[in-house]
Amino acid sequence: MKRKIPSNEKIIEQIKNIVKSRFGIESQEVLSQLVMKRLKREDKLFSVSPNRVKKLALTIPSVHVKVKTKKMPKIDKIDKCPVCESKILPLEGTNLSNKKILIGYKCVNCSYSSDLEHFMPMKYLFVWKG
Ligand SMILES: [Zn+2]
Repeated sequence: MKRKIPSNEKIIEQIKNIVKSRFGIESQEVLSQLVMKRLKREDKLFSVSPNRVKKLALTIPSVHVKVKTKKMPKIDKIDKCPVCESKILPLEGTNLSNKKILIGYKCVNCSYSSDLEHFMPMKYLFVWKG
């Protein structure tokens, strides 16, 4: 069966409707399932990935995306934001001997920030803020 890719506008409209009508959506999988359900009413062949839904949700000012992270044993280096794939900046601190050390990362675009232990976003929460 052929798949159709819905436009950003269509997806964004559904994300808004869904998030607005609920207290919060627990994960990007749940959100994308709800979006798909509504889009399929229009066209059964529409298909969209949870990652695309999440990325579009990040662009909507009235939708707040909270990120829950999972503890990872060790992080060396990351090149881009694991949430929105924007540029990520190192957060530096100083240790007891006044040397600069890396203490975490912060995204230039979204609200993602992390210390070196709490790193990987595992779960997203979508909340309507109006
Ligand atoms: Zn980001």
